[in-house]
Amino acid sequence: MLRTHNCNELRKEHIGTAVTLAGWVNRRRDHGGLIFIDLRDRAGIVQTVFNPETSPDALKNAEEMRTEFVVRISGEVNLRPAGTENPHLATGDIEVIVKEAEILNTSRTPPFYINEEVEIEENLRLKYRYLDLRRPRMKENILLRHRVVKFMRDFLDARGFVDVETPILIKSTPEGARDYLVPSRVHPGEFYALPQSPQQIKQLLMVGGLEKYYQMARCFRDEDTRADRQPEHTQLDVEMSFVEQEDILRLMEELYTSLVTTITPQKRVVKPFPRFTYRDIMERYASDKPDLRYALEIADLTDIAGQTEFTIFTDAITGGGRVKGLAAPGCGNYTRHQLDELNRLVLDSGAKGLLTVSLGHPGGTLDELAIDDVKSVAAKYLTLDQIQEMAQLCRADKGDLLLIVAGQENEIYPALDVLRREIACRLKLADPDTFAFAFVVDFPMFTRSEETGKWEAIHHPFTHPRPEDIPLLDTSPGDVIGQNYDIICNGYELASGSIRIHNADLQRKIFKLMGYQDEEIENLFGHMLEAFDYGAPPHGGIAPGIDRTVMLLAGEDTIREVIAFPKTQSAMDLTFGAPSPVTEEQLKELHIDLREE
Ligand code: ASP
Repeated sequence: MLRTHNCNELRKEHIGTAVTLAGWVNRRRDHGGLIFIDLRDRAGIVQTVFNPETSPDALKNAEEMRTEFVVRISGEVNLRPAGTENPHLATGDIEVIVKEAEILNTSRTPPFYINEEVEIEENLRLKYRYLDLRRPRMKENILLRHRVVKFMRDFLDARGFVDVETPILIKSTPEGARDYLVPSRVHPGEFYALPQSPQQIKQLLMVGGLEKYYQMARCFRDEDTRADRQPEHTQLDVEMSFVEQEDILRLMEELYTSLVTTITPQKRVVKPFPRFTYRDIMERYASDKPDLRYALEIADLTDIAGQTEFTIFTDAITGGGRVKGLAAPGCGNYTRHQLDELNRLVLDSGAKGLLTVSLGHPGGTLDELAIDDVKSVAAKYLTLDQIQEMAQLCRADKGDLLLIVAGQENEIYPALDVLRREIACRLKLADPDTFAFAFVVDFPMFTRSEETGKWEAIHHPFTHPRPEDIPLLDTSPGDVIGQNYDIICNGYELASGSIRIHNADLQRKIFKLMGYQDEEIENLFGHMLEAFDYGAPPHGGIAPGIDRTVMLLAGEDTIREVIAFPKTQSAMDLTFGAPSPVTEEQLKELHIDLREE
């Protein structure tokens, strides 16, 4: 090794020890003859001192050293003179008096500060990600990710799970998102696909008798990227044989609670995780991944709204819609501008509009509310009783603001979800030190596509219906509940999974219901159906997202902050400049002619 210690491990007990260190110049300060260099390596920072009297040669070298130069120094650990200790540094009691120093490599001036926590434009950070990774925040995130992944591996290893690698070049089969395709050179005109997830492969591992499988699996989905989506993401992919839903939920609850208590013991996690049916969680929070750190529950106001003279309500109800709302605590004094902002959010989310009802000033009970206290464009169409009843349903107090949306459920839920998040954000209701996990279960199996009119699997077509719902496959597929489940936390979906079909006939039936023809089924899924005919065990699994899990543990807002080399929002790798054109020759080998668009 080029060094004897890392920069962060030196303490008072090392005083008098001869050490050799190597790292980057974090900062250089000249102090009338003396030069101080804060030397940084992955572990941390230590102050080194170059003295012209004792080591003139080393000092000469230090004069050449600039920020981010790579240097190696040898010297002796000394107590810092009284009054110069640095309590913010783990090594702040000592310094290294340099005897010899050499420059291992120089550095151009970096395009941004590495030694200061300042706001830097993200694209610049991504272009120079190797420099960004030297910054403490990114370094901590990457180290945290390592600890999380190691914890999960150890956890599953201790419970008999086997880590199996699965192929990256597979067959293109519909799994929900668009595939990334890889042209074959050897088979002209044919393509591999990159796995959207190892779903089918892990099921085949169960047919293969592995019983308990896991993998840190890379998944590729050619979707438009959003804040918490990337073209490639990592899942802790898990599959088990001879299990029921309950076994998988328990395993995951244990995994996540022990992960949080080990990795971020300062954070609060509540066990057992609450459980919601899909229907219940949608009713109460208008989302299947609500942030449960705060209440702000949605109230159904349809009955009382139907008795009013307000035609926006009554028309919506006559059209089969509903009227729902929530209370924004203490926001009864919102200005026109603030109300307009909320209305804009509602319109942007696709609903027709927002009705606000201001419940006057705080103080006193709802019974003491007078009609003159109420401010709303609908005030003249509502009686005081009706307003009080709506307020009660929303669990509102005097001084609150009712936010009400009317329309079809699929129209108003996104609006109510946005309002709930917005109010929580404005009122800072979400405790940053709490992880509010929950399970969502009993999802419908299918939804009818508005475009094609076909039934589509809500999770994926390999999910087993609840046994008691199997007859409904023939009569009302929309009512079939699947044995699938999600884990949610603080407003994010962290994992999805299901008990799988292991019977070829049932699997074929599901594909048919989804509109696949016999030939397509054989062509796309024949390998699965055939495998099921050879003694497939009952099995099920789940796949927690690693990027999101680490993002939450790190307290970051996007998964890009916890991925070493992420893509941009427009799916570009700025460090390498990918995607990029390739040569004519490469295209020819792949039998590809590019078409002018
Ligand atoms: N393969 C599924 C997914 O990626 C997860 C699972 O069912 O295990 O969503």
